[in-house]
Amino acid sequence: MTKYNYIVVGAGPAGMFACYEILKKKKTKILLIDMGKRIEKRKPSEVMMGIGGAGTYSDGKLTLTANLSHEKAFHLISKFEYQKILDYVDTVFNDFGIDSEYYPKETLQLKELIAEAEVNDIELVLRKARHVGTDKLKMFVKKFQDYLLENGVEILDGTKVEDIIVEEGSVKGVITSDEKKIYGKKVLLTPGRLNARWLQKLADRYDIKYIYDKVEVGVRVEFPSSIMKRQAETLYETVYRVRTKTYQDIVRTFCSCPNGLVAIEEYENYVCVNGHSNSDHASKNSNFAFLCEVNLKEPLENSIAYAKSVAELVSLLGGGKPLIQSLYDLRDGRRSTWSRLSKSFVEPSLKDVVPGDISMGLPHRIVLNILEGLEILDKVMPGINGGSTLLYAPEVKFRSSKIDTSKGLETSIRNLYVAGDAAGLSGSITGAAVTGVMAGEGMA
Ligand SMILES: Cc1cc2nc3c(=O)[nH]c(=O)nc-3n(C[C@H](O)[C@H](O)[C@H](O)COP(=O)(O)OP(=O)(O)OC[C@H]3O[C@@H](n4cnc5c(N)ncnc54)[C@H](O)[C@@H]3O)c2cc1C
Repeated sequence: MTKYNYIVVGAGPAGMFACYEILKKKKTKILLIDMGKRIEKRKPSEVMMGIGGAGTYSDGKLTLTANLSHEKAFHLISKFEYQKILDYVDTVFNDFGIDSEYYPKETLQLKELIAEAEVNDIELVLRKARHVGTDKLKMFVKKFQDYLLENGVEILDGTKVEDIIVEEGSVKGVITSDEKKIYGKKVLLTPGRLNARWLQKLADRYDIKYIYDKVEVGVRVEFPSSIMKRQAETLYETVYRVRTKTYQDIVRTFCSCPNGLVAIEEYENYVCVNGHSNSDHASKNSNFAFLCEVNLKEPLENSIAYAKSVAELVSLLGGGKPLIQSLYDLRDGRRSTWSRLSKSFVEPSLKDVVPGDISMGLPHRIVLNILEGLEILDKVMPGINGGSTLLYAPEVKFRSSKIDTSKGLETSIRNLYVAGDAAGLSGSITGAAVTGVMAGEGMA
């Protein structure tokens, strides 16, 4: 019977960086298991699973300042220590051939954008970032995968882990969906957003504590790229936070894709939208997510269940597809149709959608926040509040329940570690990679 020193479940950035980090410390036997395929066999439609993880066919935006979603791990590590690991993660991207430029650019335009936001009572969140692009990211993942294989990592692809083996409070291995038992001294689980719920169920079964985190619900906004040109040139990742008039809620732009495409994320009972750009930036449109934070306390603490039911309702209205609506139709209180959309000056980059009325699916407060938020945003992005602007729903940023761990990411089950988005510790490629490094260090 083979017994591995380390078993890593999930070959997204968290799992891959954990393997990399363990190997840096010692030559050892690691088994990396993923339910998806190896990178060379993975189709672009396999968005969420396979070697490289959910990030592989993403926009490839690398965020490099320890703020926003990176803060999810600040209960374990100081901002300063976190930033050091984040800088190190960036050097690994360089080592595997990423040479994209850095943003924001220290230009006069940057000063103007900061001042414009300030005088309009809008917060412009600045952070260092690079845009790799979907095509180049795949090349990076291939090099990374090959490095792991050459250095003794065994990759078991197309294999789903169903359960873990626990004896006397200590993990002993994993059980696959075909009921095969694989033994290992230390096990790391990094199943990503796709299987965050599975991780939570395991936590319930083995009495590992966790807390619910907030979620963000809203739409993806698509518009002519000239509207965001200044921000794209200077900042690349444009994060504006605006306070709405009626509810005084904060709505923010997020995951902006200059000259990008709107994409679908498929889950078990619903679909969500997202966005990505290729490095050639060929699209005439740009897009970003426009999101409202939902943080429930009582009697429903489970914000994820709430966001899921919103996503399910919108998907139901779309017959299993995302809804698209022009801002003009939403304001006018009527559903969009293909015929009406054909009069819009923005051609949708995602066609596999159903024209409809997003206000039938999203809660009133969120719809109002979006309408009011776009009006405010128009002050720093003139044209964004134009009638032709397209809205796609549902856009939901789930944040997984935060699993209780030590600083080295070990859970209350001895030798069982968790990292990445599923553990509620990250929400980005580089964030997941940082937690992979933390877990790798903890395990090795
Ligand atoms: C369309 C899209 C665009 C995005 N764009 C960006 C972006 O530009 N920049 C950015 O920073 N982030 C982006 N993200 C988010 C980013 O991809 C994730 O934050 C990141 O990949 C999380 O890494 P992870 O290692 O935690 O999990 P994942 O990358 O999700 O990897 C988890 C892996 O675990 C495997 N797995 C799950 N359960 C099991 C199981 N039971 N058994 C075996 N294997 C299992 C899955 O197959 C998957 O390969 C995007 C995400 C999507 C979907």
